[in-house]
Amino acid sequence: MENDLELYNIIGKNIKKRRKNLGITQEKLAELTNYSLSFIANIESRTYQSFSISALNNIAKALNTNMLNLLPKDNKEIIKNKEIKCEYCNYHTEIPIELIKILNNIHELTSKKIKLTCPKCNKKILL
Ligand SMILES: [Zn+2]
Repeated sequence: MENDLELYNIIGKNIKKRRKNLGITQEKLAELTNYSLSFIANIESRTYQSFSISALNNIAKALNTNMLNLLPKDNKEIIKNKEIKCEYCNYHTEIPIELIKILNNIHELTSKKIKLTCPKCNKKILL
């Protein structure tokens, strides 16, 4: 939850920066997107204002950009890691949970088991 809050706040900050670069007011952005002024203002301020991907997409379009450009660039602070351990040599490392989710999606699509190679002993580590 706290990480989510941070994520929304970072995106909100990016939206604000982009809007100011274009010299557009919050009122104008609200008008362009058909969202309320308070919704726009909440997104840009450090409040718990969540929004959908489609809202982000609409805002990005109104700001004449791609929503990917509004996502966090340096998202170190929001990345959660999972510890991975090699059962053979006890090597351990951390992998971002997002990456594991992606790997699991690939696993579901291909029904192949995802194996990582241990950098230390070169044996296969199962996720
Ligand atoms: Zn190992």
